[in-house]
Amino acid sequence: MLNQDGTESIINVSEVVTSPFQSFLQELYLKYKPLCHGVLASYIPELTKVNPDLFSICAVTVDGQVHEVGDYHQLFTIQSISKVFVYGMMLEEHGRDYVLTKVGVEPTGDDFNSIILDESSKRPYNPMVNAGAIATTSLIKGSGPTERLNRMLDMFRRYIGHEIFIDISVFMSERTTGHRNRAMAHLMRNFGMIDEKIDEALDLYFQQCSLLVNCHDLAVMAATLANKGINPITQEQAVASCYIKDILSVMYTCGMYNFAGEWAYKVGLPAKSGVSGGIVVIVPNQLGIGVFSPLLDERGNSVRGVKVCEELSQRLGLHLFDCSIDGAKVIESLSSHTR
Ligand code: GLN
Repeated sequence: MLNQDGTESIINVSEVVTSPFQSFLQELYLKYKPLCHGVLASYIPELTKVNPDLFSICAVTVDGQVHEVGDYHQLFTIQSISKVFVYGMMLEEHGRDYVLTKVGVEPTGDDFNSIILDESSKRPYNPMVNAGAIATTSLIKGSGPTERLNRMLDMFRRYIGHEIFIDISVFMSERTTGHRNRAMAHLMRNFGMIDEKIDEALDLYFQQCSLLVNCHDLAVMAATLANKGINPITQEQAVASCYIKDILSVMYTCGMYNFAGEWAYKVGLPAKSGVSGGIVVIVPNQLGIGVFSPLLDERGNSVRGVKVCEELSQRLGLHLFDCSIDGAKVIESLSSHTR
């Protein structure tokens, strides 16, 4: 946990409870720790080596308070959560009108890796599924693969607040087995939705999915989106504030794949999941939440992660359309509890 003076103190469930919010996270952690349903993503062979018991929850407010519990230092690959941030980068680089000609904003109601394009426009449906993310990544500007990669890494650094590295084993695992993604890229090339640098775009896509983060990083990234694009810890602007609404809208409607509708109904917050078991959730102008637990349900979302978020949203009154509880006051109540 990051203290007011910037020093770090580690809190885990066995330590003294410091605030009602911290104790609430600990309660959720202990409640859902025994939940061992689900499976590890096995279509990326390297992901089957992960310890399925890992579990962490972290919340970072827009004024920089950090609350976290469990294995929040544990590194894992960011996977599909990366799609959100690359999409934001492309909106900044090309503007929303151009990006919309290449990637739509419609939920698919289908699996995240389905090989489908919009019949009439030939665009992938949205940037949160694999086809749309590959198309988005193919738009990253740069004079060659190294420059493109470095520009992408620098964007992630701004969100996270420190350097970020690629897990080479996971990258190679995806690169050698990602035939569905290759098929999608070739289909999009056939329709002129991506240019001829197909392998380069795929490599960059596999690299972005293989970036190493921990649960704390996820919450800081989420809090940056909640805080008008400004990292609440470093105060660096990670993305122009005018694109936050674009990013959060697509997360809200498409971020949880073919569970997006039920998620919107029950949790009511923009979010994105990844097959390594991470979920980021944004409470606009309030806080960012990261949850990590690698066992997945049949749609590819973290089983514990979904449960934790449902309960967090319900008990704190965070659903965007819940008018019975003043969710906008959440940060004030956290502040009064913790200061
Ligand atoms: N790298 C994974 C893939 O391309 C990402 C999928 C995910 O996290 N849902 O299949």
